[in-house]
Amino acid sequence: MMRQTEFQVQAREALRNMKPYSPGKPIWEVQKELGIDKVVKLASNENPLGASPKAMEAIVACLPEIHRYPDAGTKALNEVIAAELSVSTEQIIVTNGADELIKLVAEAFLEAGDEVIMPSPTFSEYEFGTYLMGSEPVSVPLNDDYQYDVDRLLQAVTEKTKMLFLCTPNNPTGTYLPKPELRRLLDGLPKHVLVMVDSAYSHFASADDYTDGLEFVRQGYPVIVLQTFSKIFGLAGIRVGFGVSSPEIIHSVLQVKEPFNVNSLAQEAAKAAMTDHEHIGRSRAVNAEGREQLYAAFRRLGLSYTESMTNFILADLGPGAKELYDRLMRRGVIVRYGGAWGLTNHIRVSVGTKEENEFFIEQLSALLAEEEQIPQKPSMPLRGTTDNGNGVPRVISRVVT
Ligand SMILES: *Cc1c(COP(=O)(O)O)cnc(C)c1O
Repeated sequence: MMRQTEFQVQAREALRNMKPYSPGKPIWEVQKELGIDKVVKLASNENPLGASPKAMEAIVACLPEIHRYPDAGTKALNEVIAAELSVSTEQIIVTNGADELIKLVAEAFLEAGDEVIMPSPTFSEYEFGTYLMGSEPVSVPLNDDYQYDVDRLLQAVTEKTKMLFLCTPNNPTGTYLPKPELRRLLDGLPKHVLVMVDSAYSHFASADDYTDGLEFVRQGYPVIVLQTFSKIFGLAGIRVGFGVSSPEIIHSVLQVKEPFNVNSLAQEAAKAAMTDHEHIGRSRAVNAEGREQLYAAFRRLGLSYTESMTNFILADLGPGAKELYDRLMRRGVIVRYGGAWGLTNHIRVSVGTKEENEFFIEQLSALLAEEEQIPQKPSMPLRGTTDNGNGVPRVISRVVT
C-alpha cells in the first residue's frame, strides 16, 4: 500500500488562497452539541415563514417524474421569470443556488491576473470565485456608516479590472447603493468591466431610490443581476437562483454550465414560488414588522445597529460580541458573529417570526443584565461600555442610521 505522503499530486496554485465558507450552524447540530431542545436559528437569512405552500405542493406533484432528467434549459421556469420581470427568456440563466451563478460568471469571464473589485465587508462568494480563477480581489471599504462610496470604487479601477461585484442591499451590512449613485458608477466604468449586481435581498428593500439593477440591464449596461429563491421565496434547501443580463453575456455563462445543474424539484418549486404573490407579500410584511421589533429592542438595550434594507440586522455589541454570540448559542439562539467579515464587535441577526425575535431579545437582554451585575475585569472588555468610576458600566449608545 502506497502511503499518502508518497503521492506527488498537487492541487492548483490558486487554491492556496481559498478560505472555507463558514455557514450558520444548523439547528440540529446545536441541539445535539448542547443537549437543548429549543433552538432558534437567526443566522442564514432564511424565510421564517417557510416556503410557499404552493411550492411544496409543486414538489410533491412532480415526485412521480424524478426518475427522468430535469429540463437542461429550464424552459418553463425561464418563461415564468421572464414574464414576472419583463425580460426575454434569452436574458435568463437558472442555477443551482445563486452561489453557482457567481462561480459560473467567474469561470466565464475571469482570467488569471484579472482584477475584481468588491466592497468590504461583503458576501464571501465573490472572493471565492475570484481566487478560484487565479484573479485578484480588490477590496474597497464601505465608509464608516457602511454606506457605499462610489468615488472610492471608481478610484480602484485599473486597466486590469475585469469585474465589479456590487451587493445591494449588502450582506452583512443591510445598506444599499441608491439608484442615481449606481448610474454614476456604471457611467464611470470602462466599457470592458462587467458588473454583477447581487440583489438577493431586493424584495425586502423599501427605500424609494432603491434599484435591483434590472432597469440597467434593460438599458443595455454590461450588468448581470443576481437573484435567489433562498431568501424571500423560502427555498434555500432546494438550491435555485438565477441571473439576468444581455443575451450575449448569458450565452457566455451558459457555455460553462453543467447541463443538469438545476434539479426538477427545484424547477417546479421555483415556478410556483415566484407567482405566489400572497406568500411574498406576507413574507415582506412579517419582515418589515420584525425589523422594527428588533430596532426597538436594540434601542432599549442601548445598542447601536445599522438600518437595514434586508431581512437581517447588523448590531454592534462592543468588544464582548464574540462572548455574547457564544452565550446566545448556549441559550438556544444561533446568530452570526461578525469576525469573518472583520467586524469583531458585531453580530448579524436574521429577522425571524415575532416569537423568534422575542426569544432572541429576551436571551440577549438577560445576558446583558447579567453582564452589568458582574464586576468587570479589565482583561475581559465587554460591550461598548465605560466604567463611570463606581464600578457600574455606562452604556454608550450610538445608533447609526
Ligand atoms: C444568500 C445570498 C446569495 C445566494 O444564495 P443561494 O442560496 O446560493 O441562492 C447570493 N448573494 C447574497 C448576498 C446572499 O446573501
